[in-house]
Amino acid sequence: MAVRRDNIELVWSISELSSLFGKRTNIDGFLQDVVDRIAEHMESDVCSVYLLDESTQRLVLRASRGLDPDAVGRVHLGLGEGITGTAVKELRPIREAHASRNPRYKFIPNTREEEYQSFLAVPIRHGLNRIGALVVQHRRPDQFTRHDTRALQTIAGQLAATLENVEMLMELHGHSSGGEIPAADRSESIRCQVASEGIAVGRIVHLRARDLLDEQSSSDHEDQETAFRAALERTDAQLEAIHRDLDERISDLANLIFSSHLLMLRDEEFSGEMLRLIQAGATAHGSIRQVVGRYADLLAASSNPRTREKTHDIRDLGQRLVRNLRGGEEEHGDLRERIVIAHEMYPSDLVRLAAQHAEGLILTGAGNTAHLTILARSLEIPSVLLRARREDELPEGELVAVDAYEGIIHRNPHQTLLDQFRTTQEARRTDRPKHAPSAAPTADGVAIELLANVNILHDVDLAVRAGAMGIGLYRSEFPFLVRNDFPSEAEQYRIYRRIVERVEGGPVVLRTLDIGGDKLFGDPEYQESNPFLGLRGIRFSLAHPELFDDQLRAMLRAGADRDLRVLFPMVASLDEFFHARERIRAVSADLADEGLEHHPNPKLGVMIELPSAVECCEEFASEADFLSIGSNDLVMYLLAVDRSNEQVERLYNPYHPAVLRALSRVIEAARRHGTGVSMCGEIGSSPLMIRFLIGCGLRSISADPARLSRIREEICTVTEAESRAFSARLLRQPSVGAVQHLIAESGL
Ligand code: PEP
Ligand code: MG
Repeated sequence: MAVRRDNIELVWSISELSSLFGKRTNIDGFLQDVVDRIAEHMESDVCSVYLLDESTQRLVLRASRGLDPDAVGRVHLGLGEGITGTAVKELRPIREAHASRNPRYKFIPNTREEEYQSFLAVPIRHGLNRIGALVVQHRRPDQFTRHDTRALQTIAGQLAATLENVEMLMELHGHSSGGEIPAADRSESIRCQVASEGIAVGRIVHLRARDLLDEQSSSDHEDQETAFRAALERTDAQLEAIHRDLDERISDLANLIFSSHLLMLRDEEFSGEMLRLIQAGATAHGSIRQVVGRYADLLAASSNPRTREKTHDIRDLGQRLVRNLRGGEEEHGDLRERIVIAHEMYPSDLVRLAAQHAEGLILTGAGNTAHLTILARSLEIPSVLLRARREDELPEGELVAVDAYEGIIHRNPHQTLLDQFRTTQEARRTDRPKHAPSAAPTADGVAIELLANVNILHDVDLAVRAGAMGIGLYRSEFPFLVRNDFPSEAEQYRIYRRIVERVEGGPVVLRTLDIGGDKLFGDPEYQESNPFLGLRGIRFSLAHPELFDDQLRAMLRAGADRDLRVLFPMVASLDEFFHARERIRAVSADLADEGLEHHPNPKLGVMIELPSAVECCEEFASEADFLSIGSNDLVMYLLAVDRSNEQVERLYNPYHPAVLRALSRVIEAARRHGTGVSMCGEIGSSPLMIRFLIGCGLRSISADPARLSRIREEICTVTEAESRAFSARLLRQPSVGAVQHLIAESGL
C-alpha cells in the first residue's frame, strides 16, 4: 500500500476550501474540488459526495471523482438504501473491506462501481440534521483504515456547516438542490413519526369519518325489502369471506372479532326485527338505524363491562349493513390499495384493518398507545403518527405513498416515486433469509442468545424464520386488548397452546397480563387519572386473583411439555414476586388435584422495569429464576419521561447516565448470582446499545423477530474486549452530553 500523506494536511486543505467557498456560489465546482482533493490525498480510486434532497428525502450523487460523470445528478438513493443510504440513515460511518459482501450493498448500474472493493461511507450531518454522505472507494480490498474513517468524519464535519448554508442560499435563489427530478414532478411530502416500519401506497380512507347510520338515505324510492335483503346477503357473504380468508397470521385475534359479528347478523332478533319494521312501512336505512340504536343503548346501559363493549361491535355491524345498502365503492369492505387514516383506535380496529387487507395506517390522535404500534408491527401494517395534524388535511380518495421507514407521507406521488416504492416493497417481501436457530457469536466467539418478542401467532413464524432460539417475551395482553375483554381460561389455553406448539424448541417465556398504563381497556371502568402509576401489570393481576388464576392455569397447561417460563411484569417489590409465586404454586396444586396435564414447576422471572426493581436487583437476582430487563418502561420511569408526549419525548434518552448505570447494575447482580438475564426492551435492537450491553456482560437479547437478523449482524462486528472497554468508558461519563460526545468521538 502506498504511503499516504498525513490526514491532518487533508483536513486543513478542505477547511481552506470551505472558507474560500463563501466567495463563489458554484456549489458543483466546490464539490468537485472537494472530491478531487480527497481522492488525491487518500489515494482512493473514487471519491463521491451525495446530498440529501429535503423534499424527496433521497440522496443525490452531486460530485464524483472516479465514477462515470454521467451518473452525477442521476443516481438517487433512499435513506437506508445501499451502504451509503444506511450510513446516512443510521448516522454512522460504514467501512467495508469487500463492499459487495455487505448485505446492504446495492449495485448501481452504469457507474462502473462494481470495479471497486474497499468502501468507506461517512454521513455528513449537522447535529442530527442529515445533509449527505462522503464516500471513498478503492479497487483493492481492505484499503481504508480507522484513521481514514476519522479523517473523513472530520472533513464531513467541516463540510456540514458550509453545505447547510449553501442549501439555504440555493433555496432562497429558487434553485433546485436535488438531482434530476423535475420540479413539476415533485410530490408534496409531510413529515411524520414512524410507528410500524414499511412502505404503503394507496388512496386515503377515513375511518369513521362519518356515521353512516345517522345520515339520510338516498335510496328510499327502491323496493325497501328487496334492497334490505340484498344488503343482508352481501354483508353475510363479506363476513364469511373475511372469516374464510383470514390470514393464518392473524386468525387467533381476528376470529375473536368477526365470529361475533356473524352471530349477531344471523340472530333473528336482530335482522328479523329490521325486516318486520320494513314490512310495517319503515325504510331499510331507518330500520337498521332504529334496531342498531336500540341494541346499542341496551348494551351501553349494562352493568357488565363485557356486555357494554359490544356496543362498539353492533355499531360497526350497522355501518357495514348501511354501506352495503348503498352499494358503491367499499362494497366488499376490502381495503386493498387503501391507506386508512384515523384519529384514535382500539387494538380490535387494527386487527379488523389487517383482516380487510388495509395497506397502511396514519394515526393522528395523541392518545394512541405504544401497544397499538407494537400490534401494528406484528400485523405488518406500515403505520405512521401524524400528531400535530388534522386528518381532514388528507382528503378521502387522495393518493398517498407512505414511507414508514423514514416517516414521510408523499401526497399525490409521481410515477417515478411510485415505481421506486413498488420495487422496494417487492425487495423487502422477498428479502427474508431463513436461519437455523442459533446463538449469535461476537467476532471473538462469545455466544449471545437471541430470542424473540412475540405478540401474536404470526410473530412466531417470523421468529422461527429469523433463527430465534425461543420466545423471550410473549405479551399475553394482546388477546385481552383486542377483545377488550377477558378471554376465558379455555380461550386463553387455545391461544397459548398454538403459540407454544409452533416453537421448535428453546425457552418459551409467557408474560402474565400487563394491562394498565398505556395498555388500557376502552372501558370507563378501567380508566384511571394516572394510569402509568396505577393498577398496572402484576398489581392488576394480584388485585383480581380470579382472573390471574385463569391465566396461570391456561399458561401451565399450554406449556406442559415445554421449557415454560412465566414472567411477571411491573414488579416493584420482592413481596409482589412472592405473592405471585404463591398463586402459581397454588394453581399448579389445583391442576394436579384435577388430574389435568400441566407444567408443574416453570421457571419464574421478574421484569426489571421500575426504579424500585433496580434498587432491589440483588434480591430479585437471588430469589427469581431469571430476570428480563424491560427498558421501554425502565427508561420512562427512571427519567420520568412519557415517550408519547411531544413536549418531552426528546428527553427519553437511553444514553442517560442513570439508565446506563441501572442496566449495568442489574446485569452485574444477575451475573453474581448466576441468574439468567435478558434484555427484552427496544434498546436491545440498537447497535450502540448492543455493544454497551455485551460489554456489561449481557448474553441474551429478546427482540421483535423483524429485527433479529440486524442484531445478529451487529453482534458479529463486536468483540467482547472492545465492548467491555467501551461500556466502562460510557459508565464513567457524568452527563448525557458527555456520553454523546464520547460516542461521537469514538466514531461508532
Ligand atoms: C419493556 O417495558 O421494555 C417491555 C419489553 O415491556 P412492554 O413494551 O410490553 O411494556
Ligand atoms: Mg414494560
